[in-house]
Amino acid sequence: MERRKTKQRDSVFEAVMELNHPTANDVYEHIIRKKKTGMLSKKISLGTVYRNLQILEETGNLASIYADPLVMYYDHRLDPHYHIKCVSCGAVRDVDMDYRAEINQKVEILSGWEIESHSLAFSGLCPECKTARAEKTANGGATR
Ligand SMILES: [Zn+2]
Ligand SMILES: [Zn+2]
Repeated sequence: MERRKTKQRDSVFEAVMELNHPTANDVYEHIIRKKKTGMLSKKISLGTVYRNLQILEETGNLASIYADPLVMYYDHRLDPHYHIKCVSCGAVRDVDMDYRAEINQKVEILSGWEIESHSLAFSGLCPECKTARAEKTANGGATR
């Protein structure tokens, strides 16, 4: 029993590593796909995926990131960094920019609070969606 639980947790963790900032549902679908191709034998439910993501976060193995107030995304990268989310397809990626720890100090002075961290999520169109939109516009004959 314990062993089965560990295996499920491992496959959830692996899915987060293999996917790029997935949601619980992405993780679930990824595991089901792997199962179909015979890479995994054990069945898993969406509830089990949720539970394991929660445990992995509580034990400090995964981080949940704030890229959308309504959807929880998971990240295996634990150092503070910024994210960008595509408004069209929902993809979440890392922003290649240094974390600005000095903002925390500034806010400490302004608020009198002890700041632990901050998160920042940008939104926009990913390169794929930008291209798709440009092609659609070109095909429609519309001019900008
Ligand atoms: Zn996109
Ligand atoms: Zn990230």
